[in-house]
Amino acid sequence: MILLSKAPYESDAIPRLRPWESRAEQRTWVFHESLRQKNMLSIRFLASRSLSAGVRRYATAAAPQKPSNLPFYLLGAGTAGAAGYYYLSATEKAVVKQEKSPLDPENFKDFKLKRIEPYNHNTAKFIFELPDNEASLLPISSCVVVKSSDPDALKDPKSGKPIIRPYTPVSPSDAKGELAFIVKKYDSGNASKYIHDLKEGDTLAIKGPIPKWPYKINEFDEVALIGGGSGITPLYQILEHALKDKTNKTRFKLIFANVTEADILLREEFDAMRKQHPDKLDVVYVLDKPPAGWQGPSGYVNAEVIKKHVAPPTLNEKVKVFICGPPGQVAAIAGKKAGMKQGELGGILKELGYTEDQVYKF
Ligand SMILES: Cc1cc2nc3c(=O)[nH]c(=O)nc-3n(C[C@H](O)[C@H](O)[C@H](O)COP(=O)(O)OP(=O)(O)OC[C@H]3O[C@@H](n4cnc5c(N)ncnc54)[C@H](O)[C@@H]3O)c2cc1C
Repeated sequence: MILLSKAPYESDAIPRLRPWESRAEQRTWVFHESLRQKNMLSIRFLASRSLSAGVRRYATAAAPQKPSNLPFYLLGAGTAGAAGYYYLSATEKAVVKQEKSPLDPENFKDFKLKRIEPYNHNTAKFIFELPDNEASLLPISSCVVVKSSDPDALKDPKSGKPIIRPYTPVSPSDAKGELAFIVKKYDSGNASKYIHDLKEGDTLAIKGPIPKWPYKINEFDEVALIGGGSGITPLYQILEHALKDKTNKTRFKLIFANVTEADILLREEFDAMRKQHPDKLDVVYVLDKPPAGWQGPSGYVNAEVIKKHVAPPTLNEKVKVFICGPPGQVAAIAGKKAGMKQGELGGILKELGYTEDQVYKF
């Protein structure tokens, strides 16, 4: 049996009351203090078992037969709640929790294309392999930039520099071993055509994360997401992240504009989210060329659609509008972006009284 020695600064007695605090505060403090002492005991118990079981006491002593996992448990016990780098798996082995993304925000790294899944007439899903079954851990919201792994391919014919384009993953940031993108192919496009020509087993150079809006759960009461075409992916990333959070109270309105019904990306996913969270998400599909009998709005996203579906600017800091789409759409609805910068707020949102703080352009 192991006898636990007591550190001189520790007392067996219930902690002394602190007279400068109210009775309620004192009770809380006593409760936490006794918990702390219990934790100290269990840590010391584990420590002494670990020392007797698994650690060579002297350099000349024989190494233990079986290496003990207890030092890891101990570390986990000591840091639990603070960092949580270690935890016990179902089989009670210490498991190292992943701390770092396999992607590098400063340098391009090659990732192998594991699978291509056809999506629709001009879009496919490209699933890249993340080494060691790690997760990307990309923050919400962020994107990556990509270029060819081959320095002689995908170059600007005028400058000779590599063509680099941003893409937003559709796989959750904690998905293990995979990083998935849906990429729409533009016939006159450079990067999108290059990616569509890749074969399974080829690699693509990826750098990230490129942080966008640091989305915080429940920061807003009402969020409108206005998307166009393949610009839907950052908006999908926010929705996927927020709606799976059980503490989410924000109500989302997605307004998604496309040319035809066949162009609507991720429709199944959005419809499933709406079904699962009817009080938190509403979706409005807007079509430029709607089929006969289309019930939703048609044409471009205009002031009438926004007034009808987006929470009013008078909600001040409680409302936020995120927009991502082709440059023409962004300019008409929220004013032109200035390169990577937001640019002045303009367009329909400005006319309707929204302020720069209420709008974010991806
Ligand atoms: C933050 C962010 C995230 C993005 N995420 C994705 C994503 O997940 N999936 C995806 O497919 N795309 C995404 N894009 C768009 C992507 O970065 C490229 O712009 C797109 O793939 C076209 O690149 P390209 O080199 O093929 O075309 P380019 O060579 O740049 O352009 C050629 C022609 O294609 C047309 N074109 C280019 N881009 C667009 C556009 N967005 N809408 C309409 N017409 C266009 C224009 O007519 C242009 O003249 C994202 C863009 C941003 C800013």
